[in-house]
Amino acid sequence: MRTDGMLKEGALKDQTIIVTGGGTGLGRAMGTYFLELGANLVITSRKIEVLEQTAKEMEAETGGKVLAVQCDVREYDQVENVLKVTEERFGQIHGLLNNAAGNFISPTERLSNRAFDTVIDIVLKGTTNFTLALGKKWIANKQGGTVLNIVTTYAWTGSGYVVPSACAKAGVLAMTRSLAVEWAKYKIRMNAIAPGPFPTEGAWSRLLPGDLVKKFDPAKLVPVGRVGEHQELANLAAYLMSDFSAYVNGEVVTIDGGEWLQGAGEFSHLEKIPQEMWDMLEAQRGKKQ
Ligand code: NAP
Repeated sequence: MRTDGMLKEGALKDQTIIVTGGGTGLGRAMGTYFLELGANLVITSRKIEVLEQTAKEMEAETGGKVLAVQCDVREYDQVENVLKVTEERFGQIHGLLNNAAGNFISPTERLSNRAFDTVIDIVLKGTTNFTLALGKKWIANKQGGTVLNIVTTYAWTGSGYVVPSACAKAGVLAMTRSLAVEWAKYKIRMNAIAPGPFPTEGAWSRLLPGDLVKKFDPAKLVPVGRVGEHQELANLAAYLMSDFSAYVNGEVVTIDGGEWLQGAGEFSHLEKIPQEMWDMLEAQRGKKQ
């Protein structure tokens, strides 16, 4: 396993990239690597004090420039404001990483309609708000750009107990593939990443609260036997954000150590059969042939 940066120095030099939910977790990890590769970074979320602290630490760590802007992705006027202040600070915007999300586990029948709406609004509406606002700007200015959306593998399999998130991420995936085609003529490229389990404070405390993390150790569900390293995701995100991936459009790249396929494969549970039983089965087969 390699956990160092993969791209060439300067691979994102002078690119201005907005990362929603960039103050914490995976957004922070991907944003930090964009900075290391020479980008100017804008991080947004609801908690300005978290963003400002992160921005300071990122600048100290990388020597890059970070602008922290408070924005609830559900509010279109706040999204437009992020674009305005970004242009004032850095000029042209080159990339958008739609990473902000909300999620929690619950039997669906226990959810209020408002709880359902909240997740859909942050994940789906938040992503379409940013994509639409920036897309309109890029098209009006006759300028291309790159959008990268963070989805999940249950965007296509569906999943119980996280149904609002599954509905919303499926919508984001549909938007990714639709606009990849529709907006290619404007030189706007759009891809998605579906991460498997990557430990983060935010997502894991909501999805595996209390001692659930011990009961359902996510690493045990992954064929390669471990969870992801943040830099592994950051390497993929930087590639998809950079011009090195200029011919990749409308793609969703899974980075999960084979987790979702293990759940989907009809006979994958045979993993539990011990070697001696395989020997016995082979011997029985031998006799019959
Ligand atoms: P996280 O640290 O909780 O990140 C979520 C971010 O979204 C936070 O910075 C949060 O900041 C922001 N956010 C939430 N509501 C918002 C709103 N209304 N407006 C603006 N920003 C908002 O969790 P994470 O694990 O890094 O997740 C990052 C992305 O990866 C998400 O899209 C998630 O679905 C995806 N993902 C994660 C995993 C994993 O294993 N970690 C697996 C699959 C997919 P504020 O609270 O300050 O607003």
